[in-house]
Amino acid sequence: MTMIEKNLQTVQARLAVACRSAGRERREVSLLAVSKTFGIDAVKQACAAGQTAFGENYIQEAVQKITALRHLNLQWHCIGAVQSNKTRLVAEHFDWVQTVDRLKTAQRLSEQRPAHLPPLQICIQVNADGGATKSGVLPQDALALAQQVAALPNLRLRGVMSIPEPAPDFAAACAVFASIKAVFDDLKAAGLALDTLSMGMSADLEAAIQSGSTMVRVGTAIFGGRAKVV
Ligand SMILES: *Cc1c(COP(=O)(O)O)cnc(C)c1O
Repeated sequence: MTMIEKNLQTVQARLAVACRSAGRERREVSLLAVSKTFGIDAVKQACAAGQTAFGENYIQEAVQKITALRHLNLQWHCIGAVQSNKTRLVAEHFDWVQTVDRLKTAQRLSEQRPAHLPPLQICIQVNADGGATKSGVLPQDALALAQQVAALPNLRLRGVMSIPEPAPDFAAACAVFASIKAVFDDLKAAGLALDTLSMGMSADLEAAIQSGSTMVRVGTAIFGGRAKVV
């Protein structure tokens, strides 16, 4: 058994325990394997262990992997910042973009999505902590952006994603995740048909699942530590 396969089993066990203690079904939470900075072989090993959805932050690096592994029919999520000059590459190669926080980006992605591909699946990135330097739309601006994005022809709005600052303990993490869940619930109450709440990473997936996450994005716990701090 490879280290990655072993790690995936450990993460799957954590997900099972977290769902059980949250009183949720295991199938309510999907696992996104964050493969940024790791090579094609690492993705192949995870795929061989049954993992099919992968998250990437760096567009150029991701496009190389996506192209090289096209035959494996993996699902690729962009979870990094999307600069205007990268929207075409993203629209042409990814299945999901979780980091939409400006209408301009969404419009370009919609315009540049190739006609032969299904709609690009979108999450609005919400800045839950309100930190001025971080990406993500502020909670009070999320509904307006979500409604505009939902109206674009070649995108399909699926939900909300957030990357809160690491919290000091479980309760504090749950409090932040609950505030993100509240944004998600508000958008649904406003009539948007959303099914994805992307929150929780290696260190805090239990708190995220307790708070209603439907997708955790896990890198380190699957692939090991990254040389580069990102
Ligand atoms: C790197 C990254 C992750 C994975 O973080 P780990 O702590 O390694 O699990 C999840 N989400 C985003 C947006 C990331 O950039």
